[in-house]
Amino acid sequence: MFQDKINDIGFCFDNTYTGLPEALMSGVLPQPVKSPEVLLVNRSFAKSLDLNFSKVEDSLLAQIFSGNSLCKNSKTISQAYAGHQFGFFTNLGDGRAVLLGEHKTKKQKRFDIQLKGSGKTPYSRQGDGRAALGPVLREYLVSEAMFGLGIPTTRALAVVKTGEDVMRENPLPGAILTRVASSHIRIGTFQFAAAKKDYKTLEALMKYTIKRHFAELIDSKNPALDLLKSVTKKQTNLVINWMRVGFVHGVMNTDNVAVSGETIDYGPCAFLDSYSREAVFSSIDYAGRYSFGNQPIITHWNLLRFAETLLPLIDKNQKTAIEMVTDVFSDFDSMFKKKWFSMMFKKVGLSGVGDDDVLVKRLLAWMEKGGADYTNTFCDISTKKDFYEKQYLQEDFVGWIKDWKIRLGELKKEGFDSFTLMQKNNPVIIPRNQMVESVLYEAVTNNNINPFIDFVNVLKQPYDVRWLDSKYQTVPKGSGLGYKTFCGT
Ligand code: AMP
Ligand code: MG
Repeated sequence: MFQDKINDIGFCFDNTYTGLPEALMSGVLPQPVKSPEVLLVNRSFAKSLDLNFSKVEDSLLAQIFSGNSLCKNSKTISQAYAGHQFGFFTNLGDGRAVLLGEHKTKKQKRFDIQLKGSGKTPYSRQGDGRAALGPVLREYLVSEAMFGLGIPTTRALAVVKTGEDVMRENPLPGAILTRVASSHIRIGTFQFAAAKKDYKTLEALMKYTIKRHFAELIDSKNPALDLLKSVTKKQTNLVINWMRVGFVHGVMNTDNVAVSGETIDYGPCAFLDSYSREAVFSSIDYAGRYSFGNQPIITHWNLLRFAETLLPLIDKNQKTAIEMVTDVFSDFDSMFKKKWFSMMFKKVGLSGVGDDDVLVKRLLAWMEKGGADYTNTFCDISTKKDFYEKQYLQEDFVGWIKDWKIRLGELKKEGFDSFTLMQKNNPVIIPRNQMVESVLYEAVTNNNINPFIDFVNVLKQPYDVRWLDSKYQTVPKGSGLGYKTFCGT
């Protein structure tokens, strides 16, 4: 009876990862929790996954999304991986996560369904395997906001309160997030096998990754090299997309880089208010390794770590393999810059001809000098005709806007629709740090989830001009670079 009801939801598990060599995982059951209670279910997302929660009462959903009850065909595992954390190599793995299985939609799209905060695993090290409600809600909100912004990301399906406290500096309410990803294969997964010099496992992982994410490479003459090129392309596009909306990931360790090209692991992430390439929000990133403007360099660094793992699969002769990899990265910086400019041209509504790059640089220089708000500046130029606000009366900006308008006039004559382009690429709203903190505070401290739900709903349509001049667009007083976030443990 119970299982029948669970079956009504429509989970269709078909596990392929468990066919990989055992070294890559451990069979782990979620540790039961005392009194699970559903706080959030993402019904619109569930529908797109061909899941239906409507016939099932919340108490049953709480059992499922806490891991207290398992669905049929769920083969629960925790995945092994390694990673460079702030530059230092460590063996890691899912220390507080269990993969329930791979759900296949009716259109045969495959998604990992994972519980995060589900208890200890063989990879927990000193950790308790649990997650606190605040960071779980933060991941839910920011990942859904990223989806709304049109940026590849893991998503959030549900949040369950466990009814147990987790011990951090203080006792905090515990929670479990159901995370959905096109897979959880990380650069660190490859590093795990490579560090052990377990080339059989490495090769199996490579073939599996290609089959799951890059099927077009199945018949490639050099699949490892082509995989490197494809992952490089995906990561480059992803990080440029982050920079488009002012996103600072905050902890771009190689274990937090998904080879699928989805944003993963929302810990100390945040969005820029004032534009600064040096912006860092993570309380533990003392040296600014993962600052806003360092993200391209770190992407390059992380991809080189990925390349290292693939060397033995690229060519038996290491020297030849290194030459091939060097060739892949020979023009990385110029390629990244070209793509970045192409993204910035869209933000300022230009076609990228002539001195358009100078216009981009001049605007950013003005923004950085005065600490202009990243989102609102681009939003203003996409939607405003007149610029009466104080900051826009500064000489640099007045000069810029005059030259920019001349250029827009030229483009208009050519039939180029600058404003549509800008409005598609410049969000009106982002999850501003103070607003995020405020809805989290209401949810965690005051037990009021409604402002959180309202905010998540608003963030579904971040490009909508109806949010102009709304409280979501206003830059809160005292905002800026002093804001700090903490690792979501
Ligand atoms: P993160 O900073 O969330 O990317 O986590 C880095 C590593 O620490 C991963 O291997 C996590 O599984 C592990 N980890 C983080 N928090 C906990 C926890 N509370 N208990 C066990 N492992 C954890
Ligand atoms: Mg992580």
